[in-house]
Amino acid sequence: NLSDKLQRSFKNLRGQGSITDENISEALREIRLALLESDVNLDVVTELIEHIRTRALGSQVATALSPTEQIVKIVHDELVNVLGRDTARFQKSSQPPSVILMAGLQGSGKTTTSGKLAQWLKKAGHRPMLVSVDVYRPAAREQLAIVARSINASLYEGKVTEANPGTDAVLRLAREAKREAASYGCDILIVDTAGRNHIDDALMAEMAALKKLLNPSEILFIADAMTGQDAVNSAKAFNDHLAITGAVLTKMDGDARGGAALSIRHVTGAPIKFLGTGEKPDAFEPFHPDRIVSRIMGHGDIATLIERAEEKLDRGKAEQFAKKALSGDGFSLEDFRDQLRQIKKMGSMKSILKMLPSVGPFAGMSQAIDNVDEGQFTRVESIINSMTQKERLDHEIINGNRRKRIAKGSGTTVQDVNNLLRQYAQMRKMFKTMGSGGGLKAQQRMMS
Ligand code: GDP
Ligand code: MG
Repeated sequence: NLSDKLQRSFKNLRGQGSITDENISEALREIRLALLESDVNLDVVTELIEHIRTRALGSQVATALSPTEQIVKIVHDELVNVLGRDTARFQKSSQPPSVILMAGLQGSGKTTTSGKLAQWLKKAGHRPMLVSVDVYRPAAREQLAIVARSINASLYEGKVTEANPGTDAVLRLAREAKREAASYGCDILIVDTAGRNHIDDALMAEMAALKKLLNPSEILFIADAMTGQDAVNSAKAFNDHLAITGAVLTKMDGDARGGAALSIRHVTGAPIKFLGTGEKPDAFEPFHPDRIVSRIMGHGDIATLIERAEEKLDRGKAEQFAKKALSGDGFSLEDFRDQLRQIKKMGSMKSILKMLPSVGPFAGMSQAIDNVDEGQFTRVESIINSMTQKERLDHEIINGNRRKRIAKGSGTTVQDVNNLLRQYAQMRKMFKTMGSGGGLKAQQRMMS
């Protein structure tokens, strides 16, 4: 991935006393390759490399930073520059309802993102209404209806009675939905549109007609980050026809190469406004240029990780658990299961590990991430589920016979059950020792 490659190219600079034309050329060549392989558009790469070279050579003044650190900082800054320094604002019109037009190819994530956006807006105190104007596919409208129901958002269903519905029906639905939103006191109308697998004149004409009718405050291009350069090309086409106001990069939880973000911004001039990081309605976050660049460059994204932890974890419960674990009684398997469930709320193990820096103590982590066994958590949880509550509160009563039953009940093996019980016993003992010894207690006293 890009971060590994950048790290490698920086490594070559290590041990050099200062930046010279010579030693930077090698590094720049590798940065160039790394960016190209990460789906960054050629024009963007060329421009970036020139900026980096100029700044690097101009930065030979005495500084506390080593040459490597200087280049890292310059590359970081320049990547952030391409993406726009600040998190882009979400635009509303002065006259409600503000209309958000969702544009993009089939499968890019328009319907899913419409729901995510509605949920995000609700949390921010808005009253969004959803409508699908895909008059061609009843199943597409039904998909949005299901999404709306799952997040408890208003939906304009409308009816398509035409035998051969076309743009007229699309515009009629859109017009009705806007009126409905206004009369329901909804301040935002999210318009999910029909997707095609490719860009054609009919699609663009329909989108242009919708834009003219609805006068949207946001035209969001929904881009599947996994499709790399293809997403960049369709972003350009949509922008040429519609003048998009922003983009949403979906499927960033997969192995998407971050380059699409840089390219879309550069090619369309429109900022990336949100990221989609999973299929669930809350796997959605505003786009922070500096954070994504850190992610690309392998410095991790601690800020997002902390934010996510604060949002999803119950601090009271965590403190309770710590107190219990350190006490003479120790924590039970029931407590342990509670903690597992808390951690699972933060997302997949992969997505959590991805946010850690891939330098320093975490170097080489990216390989480990590929081998993460997401099933492990679930297995442990089902083993604990298969115990009786009495057993969860006192693991010592679990004999050989019960271990067999528990393995059977949880679809695991006796060895899995034994491993879990052994690890649990070790952890419990370790915590208790920490609690009674000087170590953690003394530290806690210092911190309070
Ligand atoms: P549309 O055709 O543009 O409306 O696309 P959909 O919203 O139906 O999404 C297509 C597929 O992509 C569905 O299976 C979604 O669950 C999935 N999807 C959408 N956004 C994300 C995302 O951020 N991460 C992942 N992993 N899947 C997503
Ligand atoms: Mg759809």
